[in-house]
Amino acid sequence: MLSQISKFNREILFSIESEEDLVKAFRSRDQKKLVLPENLQYPLNVRSYFTWKESSGVYTYLIFKRPNWDLPRGVAFKRTPPSAEPTGGLCNWCHAYGTSDQIGLLSVAMSAEVSSSYLICQDLTCIEKIEEECARSGKDPEKYIEELYRKMTKLFENISSYKPT
Ligand SMILES: [Zn+2]
Repeated sequence: MLSQISKFNREILFSIESEEDLVKAFRSRDQKKLVLPENLQYPLNVRSYFTWKESSGVYTYLIFKRPNWDLPRGVAFKRTPPSAEPTGGLCNWCHAYGTSDQIGLLSVAMSAEVSSSYLICQDLTCIEKIEEECARSGKDPEKYIEELYRKMTKLFENISSYKPT
């Protein structure tokens, strides 16, 4: 029972009431690139974060919410063309190793000219990888999940504080 309580404590749960709210979580820059997943049921109940990829594989989307944020925030990542990618590596968010199909540079547009790149799991399944790895090695996933949340929070803070120079 105790382990279930601690699992609940580190989870971030939120819900998105409508498609309109889902779209509004994104910046107008990202809304132009938004391809919504089909057959979503509202309210959409989210555990930790919600992510999906559009069918061409160019854009991957992330919706996240800290308990102290009024509303969820979303971001569109653009996949870096394969020729420019390193051959796999270590995910900066969850520390999983993978091939270039699994770990790659995903970029976030800060403005029309400027983007930031993140070397992370292409499918953003970081939390699942942390849970699997910790279950395998018998470690407590809490601090790794906290670190993941911190890095996602930082990304959204970077976006919202971005000022063109
Ligand atoms: Zn990862």
